[in-house]
Amino acid sequence: MKRLMTAVLATFAAAAAFAYPDKPITIVVPFAAGGPTDKVARDLGVALGAQLKQTIIIENVGGAGGTLGAAKVAKAAPDGYTFLLHHIGMATAPALYRKLPYSVENDFEYLGMVNDVPMTVIGRPTLPANTYPELVKWLQENKGKINLANAGLGAASHLCGLLFQQSLQIDMTTVPYKGTGPAMTDLLGGRVDIMCDQTTNTSSQIESGKVKAYAVTTLKPLTTPGRPSCRRWTARG
Ligand code: ASP
Repeated sequence: MKRLMTAVLATFAAAAAFAYPDKPITIVVPFAAGGPTDKVARDLGVALGAQLKQTIIIENVGGAGGTLGAAKVAKAAPDGYTFLLHHIGMATAPALYRKLPYSVENDFEYLGMVNDVPMTVIGRPTLPANTYPELVKWLQENKGKINLANAGLGAASHLCGLLFQQSLQIDMTTVPYKGTGPAMTDLLGGRVDIMCDQTTNTSSQIESGKVKAYAVTTLKPLTTPGRPSCRRWTARG
């Protein structure tokens, strides 16, 4: 991850040879503030700002699974002052949306990967299930009443949630947000039942015991001090 971050910084630094940047740079986050993509962008913004000695503006343009933010960047002047920090949704949106207002291949130049994080399946603090088998039992007993939060069609949380539903063969009511930052607020408040989200957003809530953690999408379980390890779920549940 460090190497990739360095690659991104090097790209910006190379441009600096031409007195760049002489005005603030905007990084568009295609999700709401407070979520995982936003957190990574803000960390990246601090590192870039220090290296380039320039203001880095983080602009949240959430909605439609990240496609609104991507569309905004596609239309921006290609002058090195507007960047998009996106995730897997950039690769999957062309297959999920009938008509996108941009072309992933033609309207963007790929600069590099900043981080690679697993997804976790988490539940509201008041959810009666404490373990993965208990969660499966609870989901089976509550079919038709389960609310699954996500960040819109094509977001990582949506894709992960779809696989989760498919693996258990249980349909859930999906509640789309502009990002999993606001979705997390509703999960903590018990307004939705479960969510799939990146550890960037979930690990601190899991470690402090504020949400229930049930499963991870890594081959090996992830452990956090003092908390039971999560179980990986597979296509068969
Ligand atoms: N984690 C979200 C998702 O892909 C996006 C975000 O809010 O960063 O579902």
